[in-house]
Amino acid sequence: MKVIIHGPKPAAWQLDVVCTGVGYGGGGCRALLRVEEAKDVHFHRVSVYNDNDDLNRREQWFVRCPDCAVQTRIAKPPKHIQEFAVVTDDA
Ligand SMILES: [Zn+2]
Repeated sequence: MKVIIHGPKPAAWQLDVVCTGVGYGGGGCRALLRVEEAKDVHFHRVSVYNDNDDLNRREQWFVRCPDCAVQTRIAKPPKHIQEFAVVTDDA
């Protein structure tokens, strides 16, 4: 498909994240990262058991540090970023 005329651009989004490895066992290098593009945002579903031992699939959003490759969890980004984020589902 070809876009003839692009629609209005969504508002710019950026997020500053300290590389801590939170949500992934820690070990980040404490670099300050600025995330601006959907291609830098990753998404997967993780399996977690709640207090009743029911298995839930929970969405988790994260970035990967370019310096040390450690993953750090972030809050769910806006919709236009979600749509183009990199899906890395666990098995
Ligand atoms: Zn790092």
